[in-house]
Amino acid sequence: MNNSSLFERAQASIPGGVNSPVRAFRAVGGTPRFIARAQGAYLWDAEGQRYIDYIGSWGPMILGHGHPAVLEAVHKAVDDGFSFGAPTEREIELAEEILKLVPSAEQVRLVSSGTEAAMSAIRLARGFTGKPRLIKFEGCYHGHADALLVKAGSGLATFGHPTSAGVPPEVVQHTLVLPYNDIAAIEAAFAEHGGEIACVMIEPIAGNMNFVRAAVPFVKRLRELCAQHGALLVFDEVMTGFRVALGGAQSLYAKAIPGFRPDLSVFGKVIGGGMPLAAFAGPREVMAQLAPLGPVYQAGTLSGNPVATACGLATLKEIQRPGFFEALAASTRSLVEGLSAVAREAGVPLAVDSEGGMFGFFFADALPQHYDAVMATDKARFNAFFHGMLERGVYLAPALYEAGFVSAAHTAADIAATVIAAREALKA
Ligand SMILES: *Cc1c(COP(=O)(O)O)cnc(C)c1O
Repeated sequence: MNNSSLFERAQASIPGGVNSPVRAFRAVGGTPRFIARAQGAYLWDAEGQRYIDYIGSWGPMILGHGHPAVLEAVHKAVDDGFSFGAPTEREIELAEEILKLVPSAEQVRLVSSGTEAAMSAIRLARGFTGKPRLIKFEGCYHGHADALLVKAGSGLATFGHPTSAGVPPEVVQHTLVLPYNDIAAIEAAFAEHGGEIACVMIEPIAGNMNFVRAAVPFVKRLRELCAQHGALLVFDEVMTGFRVALGGAQSLYAKAIPGFRPDLSVFGKVIGGGMPLAAFAGPREVMAQLAPLGPVYQAGTLSGNPVATACGLATLKEIQRPGFFEALAASTRSLVEGLSAVAREAGVPLAVDSEGGMFGFFFADALPQHYDAVMATDKARFNAFFHGMLERGVYLAPALYEAGFVSAAHTAADIAATVIAAREALKA
């Protein structure tokens, strides 16, 4: 079996041959690699080719693949039963673990995907505030719920247009899409619609437009405006949670802004350790609006699944070992510094950034601050680099608007090999 024959076969039975569009390599062209197995920092495709993995299942695999402690926990959970549709002690353990690491949250509900968690957080924010509108930012992704598949309208204070067929305009009529890191735009939106805004949802480090940090003054102003107008500030930490720092991106903003905390937080990816698991969390007063206590309905047959919670718990235990994040951050930093050095040597403009085990790089002179700037970076150069790296056994995200991830299983030798591959790929 090779990748192209599998891709051909897949396209007969699965739309586009994939179960999530980015896997199809449409942005970069070429044949997607069909992965046969993974271990540590490596993936092997159907042709037996090995890759150093910088996707890590788009974030969850912070320990690398097949970590022994996680495997053991999952094996044991599987033996005890796949799913009961009834509460288990392990759900409490995972909830307690999350709350211990996230001081802004007093209660948490477990779901099965980031999409579901973000969608539920918005419903909860609307139910709690009794207001209809929501604000999101261009370039941020919060899953594929209808109300979120929207792009900016013609003016700053106008509501958006659907970005997907199958979403009627009325469904996004309450969604306002603003430019990221633009204080004037958010002030204008609150001035115009302040009384009707249920929540502002943001990726604090936007990993769905590669790697763009929300500026501290911007987050500070968001916090003030939400508080002033009775809107909830929702941090979508599906990607950044337990990934950029043990306490997520909110712990970094709490260091920069005294007393800072979001109202609601959304988690996914790392908390499942590679299994379908996500969560949303917040103060008891807000969370108590959820069924069965309150009027906001939310449910899930496989929510808090016993195998997924075992995987998540084992993962969260490992990342709390002393020095874990320091080592991960240092390794990630050495990667982006290495990339930066070989780009300089090749005379190629490259801007890099990283936090914890998450990184971004842009073929541009400076780090972009918003979506339009990300999209203005050199796409042809990115695509050539992506394929150059793939040919050399390095698997980067197949689109310039995606973040990269380093795991604890990546050794200094893996990073060095990656930088050597980059030097060659940039020369080619
Ligand atoms: C991945 C992601 C989601 C969606 O999670 P799924 O599990 O793919 O539904 C939502 N928000 C952010 C920030 C993400 O990175």
